[in-house]
Amino acid sequence: MGEGTLFAPDFSPTCYWHDLTPPPELSPGAQPGRAAAVVIGSGYTGLHAALVIARAGQAVVVIDAEDAGWGCSSRNGGQVSAGIKPGFGELVRRHGELHARTIVTEGRDALAWLGAFIETEGIHCDYRVCGRFHAAHSPQAYEKLAKGLERLPPEFRDDSFLVPRDRQGNEIGTEIYHGGIVQARNAALDPAQYHRGLVDRVVAAGATVAPRCRATAISRHGDGVVVATSRGTITARHVVVATNGYTGRLLPWLRRRVIPIGSYIIATEPLDPAMTARLFPSGRVVTDSRKVVYYYRVSPDGTRVLFGGRVSGGETDPRKSAPPLKAEMVRLFPALSATRVSRSWMGFVAYTFDTLPHIGARDGIHYAMGYCGSGIAMGSWLGMRLGQKILGREEGRTAFDILRFPGRPYYYGRPWFVSAAVSYYRWRDRRESKATL
Ligand SMILES: Cc1cc2nc3c(=O)[nH]c(=O)nc-3n(C[C@H](O)[C@H](O)[C@H](O)COP(=O)(O)OP(=O)(O)OC[C@H]3O[C@@H](n4cnc5c(N)ncnc54)[C@H](O)[C@@H]3O)c2cc1C
Repeated sequence: MGEGTLFAPDFSPTCYWHDLTPPPELSPGAQPGRAAAVVIGSGYTGLHAALVIARAGQAVVVIDAEDAGWGCSSRNGGQVSAGIKPGFGELVRRHGELHARTIVTEGRDALAWLGAFIETEGIHCDYRVCGRFHAAHSPQAYEKLAKGLERLPPEFRDDSFLVPRDRQGNEIGTEIYHGGIVQARNAALDPAQYHRGLVDRVVAAGATVAPRCRATAISRHGDGVVVATSRGTITARHVVVATNGYTGRLLPWLRRRVIPIGSYIIATEPLDPAMTARLFPSGRVVTDSRKVVYYYRVSPDGTRVLFGGRVSGGETDPRKSAPPLKAEMVRLFPALSATRVSRSWMGFVAYTFDTLPHIGARDGIHYAMGYCGSGIAMGSWLGMRLGQKILGREEGRTAFDILRFPGRPYYYGRPWFVSAAVSYYRWRDRRESKATL
């Protein structure tokens, strides 16, 4: 594919959402040297923790090494889900039925709570409960989805239904899949607008949000902590680490427990809305059952396809991740073969070794992270819970509190195995798909 046919004349290796909502302009002026809490990371997790603490009348400083929201929280796919990766059967096997139920319930609560939060706060972010179509890439994958649904306790399947292959045309304009499942409560939003709405509310609650201020060390100091930053030190009673896929050397214990994995998206040039309506007749967001997942949707204005996937483990050049994404998009939707790519971007999500999110405190340092690529609702929810925990409130308890946060021997935060794993799983996905053609 020549660059001429691949990239639109206005191509930019930047995030589509930032066209409409650039990073918030926050004064990098003097930051307080003392606060009740310092929050490291200004994505959904950190901002929700800060909002709860600030609204309780306590002084909070949120710092970010880059612009506010520079991590995943302003450049994701905008697909809002319950955010629990393992299936119910797997959760029961690992944690027992009772705990499995509390984990699934918490994911569903997070999804419902986020919609209510956005509505109550009046955040304009194109939030829409559109449902998700999760497509099966092989007949076996469809069988697996059907069995998974059957095994779910009835109270957890009220919003889900199977769509067999002969009816999938109602959901999606491609013949490639073998049916799928609809989860009707899933939603879509504009992630950067949601982030902007949060920043505005955190600032209005009295917190300081300091961009371009990197935490470089954390040390205990009596009952509290001292956070050394690129712009001076902050003494606080509490510190919250909300760095997810960008957790660096600052905290080796956490770094050994999260695996940063690249996630990539392209936005097409504008299309006739009649075309996007043909490709996405139900207007739902879409994911598929491949291990190396693809996720896609239409932009809120109905004119572009936003097509995402894990096409690499760690590539950081969006010009290089665009061609394989475009190729996959065209394989699914041949009608888009002449459509060019207008934006391409990426970010690092945080996987965990048990594919569950984690929240807790270690040596007085509070953290929540590891959303495995689905952190819009769960990151917001656990950030909110973290804020309540810091205030000593009972409702801050979560189903994840008692989970051990697993690491692996010889893993120190450099995921040398990810590229090989992505290649292996991609080969397996292709073999499964081909076996059924
Ligand atoms: C391309 C892409 C698509 C995605 N699509 C979806 C989706 O459709 N649905 C979904 O639910 N999730 C999706 N996600 C994941 C979701 O965006 C994240 O799970 C969520 O935003 C995590 O929020 P967070 O606040 O925990 O971390 P982030 O938003 O990543 O914020 C972490 C911040 O910490 C800062 N930081 C790190 N170290 C330091 C330091 N030492 N000092 C100061 N600051 C520091 C970073 O600069 C960064 O801004 C996607 C992610 C990507 C990259």
